[in-house]
Amino acid sequence: MHKDLQEILISQAQLDEGVKKLGERISRDYAGRTVTLVGVLKGCVLFLADLAKNVSLDTRLDFMMLSSYSGQHSTGVVRILLDLKESIEDCDVIIVEDIVDSGLTMEYMLQNLKTRRPRSLEICTLLDKPSRRKAQVPIKYTGFQIPDKFVVGYGLDYNGIYRNLPYIGVLKESAVEGNNTCR
Ligand code: 5GP
Repeated sequence: MHKDLQEILISQAQLDEGVKKLGERISRDYAGRTVTLVGVLKGCVLFLADLAKNVSLDTRLDFMMLSSYSGQHSTGVVRILLDLKESIEDCDVIIVEDIVDSGLTMEYMLQNLKTRRPRSLEICTLLDKPSRRKAQVPIKYTGFQIPDKFVVGYGLDYNGIYRNLPYIGVLKESAVEGNNTCR
């Protein structure tokens, strides 16, 4: 376990199993269709890569990058930093997110992507922290529900670090005030 963590919340084996199940569900639900997985950068990267490998359908990948977080806190204002490359009109779109917390990011994504007239639009999140919800967004696919703890790993960062950990863990208090440099 990384020295900055107090506990591992979801192990690598649990992640593998949970992501495989999500991929199988999506493959069943969209049988015969082409799906467009829209990953929300950067947190989606490890999850999306593993999920896509478990989807046995023709699959398109596209990405958006949004800003709303700084350190451990949402700024509440969502902005698009990077937009989709391709049109999603008439496509079966699944937004792939690392974690839904307040729900504000997903509420914004749904509103924004709906205006592009997809055939269908759903949310797939690896983690769901329902205790802090401000916007009630419909989540079709959830990997794991977690308690109200700030987690890192498997794509999730704190000030840019820890995304490469192959498990989900809870940061120690002492690591929270750490640095975000490349030292
Ligand atoms: P929401 O708009 O639902 O409050 O926040 C969604 C985004 O907040 C996620 O994509 C993620 O970047 C960030 N976030 C929320 N909770 C956590 C957490 O526990 N750990 C990390 N690393 N990021 C989080």
